[in-house]
Amino acid sequence: MDRSQPKLYIIIPCYNEQDVLSITAPQFLDKISSLVAAGMISDESRVMFVNDGSADETWNIICSLAQQDSHFIGISQSRNRGHQNAVLAGLMEAKDMCDITISIDCDGQDDINAMDEMVEQYLNGYEVVYGVRSKRDTDTFFKRFTAEAYYKLLKRMGVEVVFNHADYRLISSRVLQEFANYHEVNLFLRGMIPLIGFPSTEVYYERHERLAGKSHYPLSKMLLLAFDGITSLSIKPIRIITGLGFIVTILSIIAIIWAIIAQVTGHTVSGWASLICVISFLGGSILTALGIIGEYVGKTYMETKGRPRFIISERTYEKRNE
Ligand code: UDP
Ligand code: MG
Repeated sequence: MDRSQPKLYIIIPCYNEQDVLSITAPQFLDKISSLVAAGMISDESRVMFVNDGSADETWNIICSLAQQDSHFIGISQSRNRGHQNAVLAGLMEAKDMCDITISIDCDGQDDINAMDEMVEQYLNGYEVVYGVRSKRDTDTFFKRFTAEAYYKLLKRMGVEVVFNHADYRLISSRVLQEFANYHEVNLFLRGMIPLIGFPSTEVYYERHERLAGKSHYPLSKMLLLAFDGITSLSIKPIRIITGLGFIVTILSIIAIIWAIIAQVTGHTVSGWASLICVISFLGGSILTALGIIGEYVGKTYMETKGRPRFIISERTYEKRNE
């Protein structure tokens, strides 16, 4: 297959980004122009914005960008569905229109200059190129520490993720065609892409501060994504519970035997404290176990509904009939 001068679509999820869009949009366009000038990509490459149900001027800005330059195009989700769904909507929309996609946030945090090397690696034969943060200087100690602990935990749970990689990556449309067959609604893209396979590699870049506007990922959302990452891709927590249940059962049997012996030999003491300990420990572990199982039952429930994962309500262009 001829890989030269691929048609690149840069996929950019945007949620209430009116402050930063006008700063970063020209940067993305410049990047396309310089890659075209270097003969690396086709001039039919595009910057595709995915408006994730913004409540501000974001969609209007995208529409006027699309009018100014034909390299800008946009789609709009019918409502806010979150970052992962927005990226998915963009990827699925683009997969039949281009040869390669690069997903990146619109706030200028990820260094767009890493795209050159990503495209180069595609030309070298790779189908997926992960953008990996070379250092975490701009993060607080808390974020750095929790992020690293989380990657280790994911690995323990058998979830394959690329260390220090978020959602800045190149994916070829070849891989996206296969990815379209993954129908799950609980999305954790960075854990799902490695499952598809195909040759992949990494490219290093530095992550900066946001250029304008503020983060939409407060701690609570981050924790939710982190939890989804584990429970969407691993069933190890359920196994751990089963193992714990087994150990606790054996311990209880020993305790019961001990209690009977103590009773028979007349060494009974006022066992109030130990009783309370055992009851609360069991109560706690049973509730935790139920909670984790409930989490999976809930996920199964959501998956069985098979609801659409995104709904595109508007486009800045006419959709081609397939
Ligand atoms: N985003 C989105 N939908 C949301 C929240 C965020 O499409 O519900 C987009 C946002 O516009 C940005 C990217 O996802 O392009 C990452 O969000 P943000 O920069 O707020 O997160 P952070 O970088 O602070 O983790
Ligand atoms: Mg950001």
